Amino acid sequence: MQVLSILGATGSIGQSTLDVVRRHPDRYRVHALSGRQQIGQLARDCAEFAVPLAVLPEAAQVDALHAALREAGATRTEILHGPQALAEVASCREVDAVMAAIVGAAGLLPSLAAARAGKRVLLANKEALVMSGDLFTRACQDNGAVVLPIDSEHNAVFQCLPMGRVDAGVTRITLTASGGPFRRRDPATLASVTPEEAVAHPNWRMGRKISVDSATMMNKGLEVIEAHYLFGVPLEGLEVVIHPQSVIHSMVSYRDGSTLAQLGNPDMRTPIAHALAYPERIDSGVAPLSLVDIARLDFEAPDLARFPCLALAFEALRQGGAAPNVLNAANEVAVEAFLARRLSFDGIARICAQTLARCDAGQPCGSIDAVLEIDRNARKVAADLLDASVS
Ligand code: NDP
Ligand code: MG
Repeated sequence: MQVLSILGATGSIGQSTLDVVRRHPDRYRVHALSGRQQIGQLARDCAEFAVPLAVLPEAAQVDALHAALREAGATRTEILHGPQALAEVASCREVDAVMAAIVGAAGLLPSLAAARAGKRVLLANKEALVMSGDLFTRACQDNGAVVLPIDSEHNAVFQCLPMGRVDAGVTRITLTASGGPFRRRDPATLASVTPEEAVAHPNWRMGRKISVDSATMMNKGLEVIEAHYLFGVPLEGLEVVIHPQSVIHSMVSYRDGSTLAQLGNPDMRTPIAHALAYPERIDSGVAPLSLVDIARLDFEAPDLARFPCLALAFEALRQGGAAPNVLNAANEVAVEAFLARRLSFDGIARICAQTLARCDAGQPCGSIDAVLEIDRNARKVAADLLDASVS
């Protein structure tokens, strides 16, 4: 029996995780679930999975959660709140594995707590790794934490690597990208894209932030940085290919001319089930792949002029140091402003580029305090740029 804490349980990845867990009551027990706004969902899940601890990032919704737990009949669930509580349920002795599925920088401290406690970390929260790559990977190595990637591309790469590690035989990692909803749209019209259009992803149902990131292809950029830290591959060994069907989730090429790919229907329950059960295989609820029904697989090179956010992520990785953290912070500020209709879609890349230009990539980033300070400063720079651009 594996005991789990699921952080970000009410989100897209969290709900897919619970769907897999629901199919295997003999294998998994849930110790803690966290959410933020979706109190009713959190309470119902606590009742269904008889969860001892429900965790909120702030005090604001505690009373509402008490009421919702009562209504859902989750009488044995205790409520914890605050950043310390999230870190506590990610690192406590009772827990074997942590699903890190909070979106954005808010997930960094609990993900890091799980790494420092030597847990099996099922990492969906790519932003945590982008912010603190070296620090995070060192914390895993020093404490024996095993990171199992949930991001479908990285999970695919992991599956294409014997032992899950890159060795001298590997020549290239190819991350596939759907190209999002604007792959064919006239770039001159991108300024008028609405949040509703941007979050309508052709192949995946995801949270709003990552859906916007997919539309700008910043998501693929963050994934390139994620792959660099997860697999220790330099930028030159990483390639992005647009593959609109999202059937090949990524590939690894070897010195002898072999390229291994992992295929499957675009459903996050596959990587989640893989990471939960690794090295075994369990049912995920995902329909078997039918290549005959899919009939064709297409590929094209990404257009960096259409997707400047992807170019910015390459640039941030090239600069190294604090640059990926700065880019992530600027992107979070810009995406939030776009979703709130305070910034145009093409403004996201502009705010990111300007923030990256104004913040020093050479700032020290070897401690968690330094990482958080870089994040705070970059957010302030991005917010000031935003205010200046809308006033
Ligand atoms: P969602 O927006 O659907 O879910 C986010 C979760 O985090 C929710 O449980 C939400 O709570 C919670 N949350 C939001 N803000 C905070 C905060 N400040 N503090 C604590 N908790 C918070 O996102 P996704 O599930 O789509 O994505 C989660 C992570 O997984 C992201 O890092 C994303 O990049 C990554 N990922 C997602 C994929 C997908 O298919 N969805 C694919 C690959 C990676 P509530 O909803 O209750 O407010
Ligand atoms: Mg992905």
